[in-house]
Amino acid sequence: MTTITITSLINGKRLEADGSRDRLPIVDPSRGETIGELQIADADEVGAAVAAATQAFREGPWPRLSVADRKVILLSIREALMRNADELADLETRDAGLPRTGVRLRHVPRMARNFEYFAALIDTQSENAYRQEPGFLSLETLEPAGVAALIAPWNAPLALASMKVAACIALGNTCVLKPSEHTPMSLVRAVEIMHEAGLPPGVVNVVNGPGPVTGDGLVKHPDVTRVSFTGGTGTGRAIMAAASGGLKPVSLELGGKSANIVFSDADIERALDGALLGIYTNNGQQCLAGSRILVQRSVADEFIERFVARTGRVRVGDPLDDETEVGPLAFEAHLQTVLGFLDRARDEGDEVLAGGERLERGGYFMAPAAVSVVGPESRLAREEIFGPVASMLTFEDEDEAVAMANDSEFGLVGYVWTENLRRALRVAGAISAGQIWVNTPLMRDIRTPFGGPRASGIGREGGMHSLKFFGEPKTTTIALTDQRLEKMGG
Ligand code: NAD
Repeated sequence: MTTITITSLINGKRLEADGSRDRLPIVDPSRGETIGELQIADADEVGAAVAAATQAFREGPWPRLSVADRKVILLSIREALMRNADELADLETRDAGLPRTGVRLRHVPRMARNFEYFAALIDTQSENAYRQEPGFLSLETLEPAGVAALIAPWNAPLALASMKVAACIALGNTCVLKPSEHTPMSLVRAVEIMHEAGLPPGVVNVVNGPGPVTGDGLVKHPDVTRVSFTGGTGTGRAIMAAASGGLKPVSLELGGKSANIVFSDADIERALDGALLGIYTNNGQQCLAGSRILVQRSVADEFIERFVARTGRVRVGDPLDDETEVGPLAFEAHLQTVLGFLDRARDEGDEVLAGGERLERGGYFMAPAAVSVVGPESRLAREEIFGPVASMLTFEDEDEAVAMANDSEFGLVGYVWTENLRRALRVAGAISAGQIWVNTPLMRDIRTPFGGPRASGIGREGGMHSLKFFGEPKTTTIALTDQRLEKMGG
């Protein structure tokens, strides 16, 4: 017996459920039980959502509000999200299987903070004036670009989608958000809360459905002028190709296979804590995971032994339980993909030192895995697994560590653990990635650019980088005096 039907939200209202429409099950990954259904938005429904966003952009109040008034609504959204933090955390936990404590204490506050931050940014942002030629003044302004397609993944829906929404609408744009079909519940409620907080209808619309149907229709819609996507590298390529017809700027935050380098002169205790957090947080499903743990040989035996012992003690369980450190993987097919990686790894000679097996309880649970891989060519050292699987390798010296870190098609982040400042700066400079963490895991300053080169994507999110993506720069040049004009034909 299913209880919930998740539909699209257009012009501030959820659509009525319609029994004749195609649907997908919504499954609670901690129990493996269907808890609802998603009604798929087809091309017509995507069209209706884009039409609502277009009308709100062309005729609605939102882009025409003063910065002060827009800021009031963004701050009211912040308050409303925090007031409803328990409900949002419950929905995200049931939907995605993320430990509720982490969602309640980190993801929802981060979501709220995104609205607060972009409200402050538009309030303090200045635009430029140029006076290179006497008698002329040129103004550079950042105009809202129009209707954006915002496409979100399932691994941290609230935290990741909210930066896109907040930056997009802060500048006066409108948007259509497409959550992952695996996790449709929390974001549609969050957008409903935004309307309760005073957001005018049509500014943020939500369409639900699978990527190749709902997402593709949205990206290709002629009235969409920006595409901001977070998800897998293969999907990023498909989206870029789909957007190319309309020459739409894309922002792609894609995958990673990031190196976590532990030098022998590190504070080993902290490096151990950081390495465990770097790979197993968020059920191991995080783009910025330190999934290749590279340890200097002189300390490798001890470090790996302790890492393996701690991995075996990670508390896997019900994500609603405050004690749980790792919950289930987000859906059955993903669990099978992750387990498949481990089966092949064993066949190819990698040694699974801890975990790696499915746990016999309802839902999609596995024991976090630590694997000693044969070498940098191993699949486990090269491909993104997106689960709680740590691939462990050793290195002799700094040069080898940097070479191994850079031997990847990805370039999202890198972690460096050393007490030697000069080494930290040398290695941070030498790793080809968009974000390096030295002696800390996972710290994201909202103002800094986040994203990476190559298979990790195109563009950056965070601070002004986000705002600029959703803007169209415009130059207006004014003659301050009557400049002499050639009299053509005169
Ligand atoms: P995914 O690529 O399968 O799906 C992401 C979103 O894209 C979903 O909403 C999906 O429905 C949609 N989609 C799929 N095909 C589409 C198409 N053809 N057209 C339009 N939309 C389409 O990714 P996922 O499995 O949900 O997320 C995991 C991936 O996301 C991992 O690779 C991870 O590294 C990456 N990720 C990156 C970041 C980052 O900031 N760089 C953050 C989180 C996750």
